[in-house]
Amino acid sequence: MTEKTDLRLSLRDQPRRTGSRTEREVTWQVPEGWGTHVLALTPGTTLPLTVAVTSVDEGVYVEVQGNAELAGECVRCLDPITVPVEINAGELYMQTASSNRSRTRKSDEREDVEVEGDQLDPDYLIEQDSVDLEPLLRDALFGDVTLQPLCSEDCEGMCEHCGIRWRDAEPGHSHEFIDPRFASLQSLLDEDNG
Ligand SMILES: [Zn+2]
Ligand SMILES: [Zn+2]
Repeated sequence: MTEKTDLRLSLRDQPRRTGSRTEREVTWQVPEGWGTHVLALTPGTTLPLTVAVTSVDEGVYVEVQGNAELAGECVRCLDPITVPVEINAGELYMQTASSNRSRTRKSDEREDVEVEGDQLDPDYLIEQDSVDLEPLLRDALFGDVTLQPLCSEDCEGMCEHCGIRWRDAEPGHSHEFIDPRFASLQSLLDEDNG
């Protein structure tokens, strides 16, 4: 059973003539599970996307554009941060042998470049007259995103002993650790002097 997500784009209304281009606006509601361990889309928010589909001999070329915001925290000071991501991705979705039937006409000179079904990238196939935008969108959102997000390039992070952010700490903030053996010696010296 194929699970239907709203990132599945129907090609029913797409003209099959090579070069035909359609454009549509899609408002996608972000579900759970869109993120890395440091940055994620906020579930429940909506993301407007512009999707352009161009028919080509091998299938369709799909372009997705939009602006997303990933939320997470600075890896040094743990402050909440947002990272804007510009989505500007394109991918060729190939027609599979089984879906060739839906094509109205096939140009003869293309016969010799017919691709075997098992050589195709399974993420980018036309299936049941539709394409799945999920792999394209995941790659666009998280393909280049940093795994070490910072609130600012020069974030100094936190004191490793008490967790205070250095920017909030008093000047000269430090912790004195007195060796217990040294402490008892110190008290002996104090007694001698006293
Ligand atoms: Zn920071
Ligand atoms: Zn401290």
